[in-house]
Amino acid sequence: MQSLPREAALVADQLVAANLAGHDSHGVGMLPSYVDGVLNGRLKVNSHPTVVIDNGALLTLDGNAGYGQVNGFEAMEAAVERASQHGVAIVGLRNSYHIGRIGHWAEQCAASGYASLHLVNVIGHPPLVAAYGGAEARFGTNPFCAAVPGRDGRPGFLLDMATSIIAGGKARVAANKGVKVPPNTIIDSDGNLTDDPNAFWYTDPSGKRGGALVAFGDHKGSGLAIMCELLGAALLGGETAHPKNPRDGRIINSMLSVVIDPAAMGTAETYLDEIDLFREFVLESRLRSDCDQILVPGQPEELAREQRADGFDVDPVTIDQLRSSAQRAGLSDQAVDDLLG
Ligand code: NAD
Repeated sequence: MQSLPREAALVADQLVAANLAGHDSHGVGMLPSYVDGVLNGRLKVNSHPTVVIDNGALLTLDGNAGYGQVNGFEAMEAAVERASQHGVAIVGLRNSYHIGRIGHWAEQCAASGYASLHLVNVIGHPPLVAAYGGAEARFGTNPFCAAVPGRDGRPGFLLDMATSIIAGGKARVAANKGVKVPPNTIIDSDGNLTDDPNAFWYTDPSGKRGGALVAFGDHKGSGLAIMCELLGAALLGGETAHPKNPRDGRIINSMLSVVIDPAAMGTAETYLDEIDLFREFVLESRLRSDCDQILVPGQPEELAREQRADGFDVDPVTIDQLRSSAQRAGLSDQAVDDLLG
């Protein structure tokens, strides 16, 4: 079954926007896993979120395992609309297929002038990240995102991060490129810290994955990941990562979003000046001896957008994966060549 043009456009827009923001791990390289999801029937095409609970400012939506790019977009549209009525909206989106780069959703809220917080869990595959002290994965890379709107329809600050030191997709990209990941970001199957991305993707003959990702910030990051699991999923009726929930290869996200209208806070006239002054204060600090610059959250993505304004490279392994998934989806060799060049 084919996506309708609007759905295809929403998926393409978000994936390309992730590449342009410098996050290749959440860019067009995700498409082969989406094609697998469509072909095995776990990703539902042309689906929309349905309302589970509607209490005005509080809305719970079920994503029905549809494309996260449609679910995320429509959930944020609803959140902005509710926040415009009530000053704040709390929107739970559960059971969506992969919603990709979470900053995209904060940017959608910021484009309407709203601040937002997002706590997210991810299930469907075996877990990826170990709890602090553990050597075996127990939850996903559970992203946390928060943004305040700036002056130009873009976020003034945007923190958007996996709660693992590196996102799972970054280990995939590193393994595809044959490069190391930063030291101590992966735990191998013997329980040792390593920089070898293959230790994370290693699968033993019984099909059990060997490694785990390390949560950022020791017990603090591990604790935040656990709160993403509980507030971002369990609270909304979404599934958490324990093994009684299915692990059939789906990539299912649940997300709790809190969207705030600065006008309703009474700060629409003042907070922009305040964040400008704060930004200036942060950036004018002397540098730490081992660092050569200070950036604020969201700035690396802005810089990547400038650098990639004329396009971005896709590594050859990802191109091969895109080619073979396009063929699995029924495109002719000629059509694939025309698309990939
Ligand atoms: P990252 O480590 O590249 O960046 C994390 C945050 O830190 C960003 O807000 C960035 O602006 C900021 N930052 C980066 N370098 C900085 C510096 N030198 N100084 C100051 N701030 C800096 O991102 P990540 O943790 O690898 O996550 C990548 C993407 O993966 C995110 O967009 C996230 O939403 C996405 N993700 C999605 C899922 C999912 O299931 N949908 C799961 C995990 C991650």
